[in-house]
Amino acid sequence: MKFRNFKMVGYVIYGRGSFGQLDEILAPQRKGDAPMIFFVDHVFENKPALTGRIPLRGKDKVIFIDVTHEPKTTYVDRLRDELTAEFGEVSGIIGIGGGSVMDMAKAVALMMTNPGSSADYQGWDLVKKAGVYKVGIPTLAGTGAEVSRTCVLTGPTRKLGMNSDFTPFDQIVLDPELIKDAPVNQRFYTAMDCYIHCIESLEGTYLNAFSRSYGEKALELCQEIFLRKDNWDDDADEKLMMASYAGGMSIAYSQVGVAHAVSYGLAYLLGTKHGIGNCIVFDKIEEFYPAGVREFKQMVEKHNIDIPQGITKGLSDADFNTMIDVSLGMAPLWENALGTDWKQQMTRERLRALYEQF
Ligand code: NAD
Ligand code: ZN
Repeated sequence: MKFRNFKMVGYVIYGRGSFGQLDEILAPQRKGDAPMIFFVDHVFENKPALTGRIPLRGKDKVIFIDVTHEPKTTYVDRLRDELTAEFGEVSGIIGIGGGSVMDMAKAVALMMTNPGSSADYQGWDLVKKAGVYKVGIPTLAGTGAEVSRTCVLTGPTRKLGMNSDFTPFDQIVLDPELIKDAPVNQRFYTAMDCYIHCIESLEGTYLNAFSRSYGEKALELCQEIFLRKDNWDDDADEKLMMASYAGGMSIAYSQVGVAHAVSYGLAYLLGTKHGIGNCIVFDKIEEFYPAGVREFKQMVEKHNIDIPQGITKGLSDADFNTMIDVSLGMAPLWENALGTDWKQQMTRERLRALYEQF
């Protein structure tokens, strides 16, 4: 028997306004005059309400991260090269944003000490050295990137994370105030990433009591805020932030499933983003998760959310094959969803028929 011995986040601070404590949190981590580098989602450029509160000292620098596309290995390598050229060493990297910026922060922090390209480390346990100190501060809740041991990157040949014991953040700051102004549709798509993590974990074959405990709690929080509340309020932000955390903890000890495996194909070929891509897929996979998909549809309706349709219309056979190859490459996800004989169940033809529905 082989049990996963997983590395967790170092420190967690939670609470409305906890972002205000960042200066004192960073102080003991500063190494001489090596700066702290703040990666901030580009949506906050010219938003002093947030940027004005970043505790800059000495040579510290804010870099606005363009998240028009999900993180690419080329972008990670370029930022690492620029930081190394400008500063030599940095004290740490702080990612302030959604899953994309948090993943960029993790990846660049790792690449500050590991040689070569981030593409060389896409996979499991390929990272050999601890990176520099890194902090995750979510401004969107749902991905669980704040607690996970991966940072998802699109590289030259695949979309795959740098999964390693060095990847989790040293510190996370969970301040529900920071997710308050997220646009309604985006908040929903990212929150549904959490909902889908819960369903895929709870319905998966890898499930154990550890995963179930976190998954059930996260699911209950999602149901409360998206089905039982009439208005979005501060309480909803607080609960969504904890749902994301617990959902991430649930998959840490299990795995995601069909929606993720299939949406990775869409992301790779079409650039469909994680949250919305999972929603597009989940909407159509009632055969795998009947109760979860029915409930998802209720939430979509209640919140009047637009789920794009027809995105694979007109694609070529080669395109479908690319998506199928990417998706079937996610063996652990399929095994969690369908069991060890997943290859007999999920044939290329069945997967093609599924892709044609989106
Ligand atoms: P995101 O980070 O890609 O951001 C989505 C959009 O929301 C962007 O346009 C961004 O500018 C905007 N935004 C972010 N915060 C905002 C705010 N407070 N107000 C207004 N706009 C805001 O979205 P996401 O869903 O959080 O993250 C998706 C990414 O996370 C993908 O790259 C995915 O691969 C990754 N991911 C990582 C993990 C992990 O474990 N590391 C897990 C799931 C997903
Ligand atoms: Zn996800």
